[in-house]
Formats: sequence, C-alpha cells, structure tokens
Amino acid sequence: MKNIYFIGECMVELRAMSAGTLHQSFAGDVYNSAVYLKRCFPQVTTSVVTALGQDNLSKKMLQRFESEKINTQLVFAHDTKVPGMYYIETDEHGERSFIYWRNDSAAKKVVDFLDSDALEQLSQGDMFFFSGISLAIIEESARKHFWKVVKQLKDAGVKIVFDPNYRARLWNSVEETKEQYHLAFTLADITLPGVEDLTTLYDVHSVEAVVEYLKPYQIEEIVVKNGPESVVTKEGDTLQSHTIIPVTNVVDTTSAGDAFNGVYLGARLSDKPISSAVQLAAKAAGAVIQQPGAIAPKDIFQLAMAE
Ligand code: ADP
Repeated sequence: MKNIYFIGECMVELRAMSAGTLHQSFAGDVYNSAVYLKRCFPQVTTSVVTALGQDNLSKKMLQRFESEKINTQLVFAHDTKVPGMYYIETDEHGERSFIYWRNDSAAKKVVDFLDSDALEQLSQGDMFFFSGISLAIIEESARKHFWKVVKQLKDAGVKIVFDPNYRARLWNSVEETKEQYHLAFTLADITLPGVEDLTTLYDVHSVEAVVEYLKPYQIEEIVVKNGPESVVTKEGDTLQSHTIIPVTNVVDTTSAGDAFNGVYLGARLSDKPISSAVQLAAKAAGAVIQQPGAIAPKDIFQLAMAE
C-alpha cells in the first residue's frame, strides 16, 4: 500500500452567509489536497502532519479528518495553542475577501513534534509533501530542524514534493521566501508550481519560463499549472503540454490547485502515467471550482469524477 504525508496547516473556516449567519468548516491547502487524493484513491494511505490544540474545535477538526479517511497518527495536540482561523466573505460582484487569525496557531509548532519516532514513521512513506504555505507558517526557529528532516527523508528514499503556493502576506520579505524556496527546489523530486505564484518572485511569466527557471535544480518531475490555459509537465528531458477544458460555470476557484495536487499525486502513486494523472487532476480541479468553498460535497464531487 502506497502512502503520502502532507505537512502544514488546516484552519477553521468561517464563511459569511446571508442574514449575519456564519457557516463553519475546515480548510487549508495540505488538508484540501489530502481530502481529494483520498476520495479519488482510497487505496493510498493519506496522512496529514500538523498540530492542533486540546479544544473542542480541534477535536472536531480531527473528527473531520477521520471522516475523510485521512490518517491522523501524526496529528499532534499542543498543550496551549488553538487552530488558526479565517473569515471569508463574497461581495455582490463575486469578489472574495479574507481575514486571518493564524499568527499564533498550533500548526506553527508542528516541527517541534517531529521527534525520532515521527521521523521513523515518515521515512516509511512514499512521498512527503509541503507547500510554500507550510514553509511560511513554520516558525523561523524551527526551520533548521525542518530542513534536516526533509534531507533525512530524501536520503531514506521518500519522494519530496513541493508546491510553492506563494502567499506574500505570510512572509517577512521576498528575499526570505526565495531563500526558503531555493532549499525546497534543491531537495524536491516533484514540484507543482502555478505560473502566477512564481511571477512575483522570479519575474517569470509563462509555463516555459517557469520550466527554464527550474532547470538548474535536479527536479525529476515538474508540473506547471496555469489556470484554465494549460498544464506543462517535464519528466526528465520530456516536455509535454496538456490541454485543459475550461470550465464555463466557475463559482469559486478556492483550492483548485490543491485538488489538482492531491489527485495528481494519488494518480502517480497508483502508477498512472503523467498524462492520465494530469487529466484526472484537471477533472477534479474543474469539479471543485464549480462549488463554493475549498471542499466540495463528497457526493457531488464523486458524481463529477464518475462522468
Ligand atoms: P492555483 O489554484 O494553484 O493558483 P491554478 O489557478 O493554475 O492553480 O489552477 C489549478 C488547476 O485548476 C489548473 O491546472 C486547472 O487544471 C484547473 N483550473 C483552474 N481554473 C480553471 C478553469 N477556469 N477551467 C478549468 N480548469 C481550471
């Protein structure tokens, strides 16, 4: 049985509904990817590695992970911290705005829990995934230990997977981000960047420019996402362009990239070739953006995937 670990943060989501009502759910890039991977590839053991608190919302979040059949062995409970939270509101023009409370979240402490037992378990994995958001939320003082863990896993034969998923507001400076991304690209076996993410950082404006930028790094598999335009992959020296069928009824693009990543990696872990992995991932992302929120209702999602 193949297995993958997603390290990062899942937050409490508060969505503004009509008449002053809030709808509460859970979301966060690595969790979203884990959910969609597991829904499409139930045979792949899918784990989230994060830290929550001892509070009731943390308990509910853990139950939600379990209800999505996500492995929670490496979901740690911090003594005093609580989960991060965000509020999302959509105006009459469909524009979304967010407010975050995540600067003191339990997830920022996740690396502190990565002791030798955890490392032993992670070393048994086939893939270890982190994103630019995971890197940004980890406390600066824990970075050294984090990179040591990543190196050890790579040496143990675990495939290192990185999605830059750049969120400027989570970083102190562009220089700091670039320094961390350099380490990530150096260690990555697979990377799944979006063109937009890298434009701000490296002044690259096309899929070709992204591939060119990543050339000096020894990355085995590169998957460049470019919204509805196309997906370009590079495996070794083989470059392939994949056509995406644009969705006309886009409701909410939240977690398009996360769904894509999860399903792509699930397909690769299930020995599917890159082209079918991209098609399945694009189909999943296309289904997710026709629903509001990060996590589409399971039945609607399964129906869309079965079409
Ligand atoms: P991110 O969410 O990481 O910024 P993208 O916007 O590139 O990434 O979207 C990720 C994937 O979602 C794309 O590769 C594509 O498969 C799918 N996608 C995004 N927007 C659309 C769209 N309008 N129509 C169809 N598929 C889309």
